[in-house]
Amino acid sequence: MSDIKICDECKSEFYKDKSVMENLCPECSSILYGYENCKHEFDNLRCLKCYWNGNSTNYLNKIKNK
Ligand SMILES: [Zn+2]
Ligand SMILES: [Zn+2]
Repeated sequence: MSDIKICDECKSEFYKDKSVMENLCPECSSILYGYENCKHEFDNLRCLKCYWNGNSTNYLNKIKNK
């Protein structure tokens, strides 16, 4: 069983070993730092692979829409 961490940015839980960054989920580390994102597969509102819950923030949306 993977360790579960809380993302500093979107506050979603994520599997620690699925993200390059210690304190960011794959989604946020991809948006903020350009790391490879998880190919999310949602089931029951969570990604089966990285456990991200689909959270976002205004800040992230702003970056994404650039
Ligand atoms: Zn995040
Ligand atoms: Zn994922």
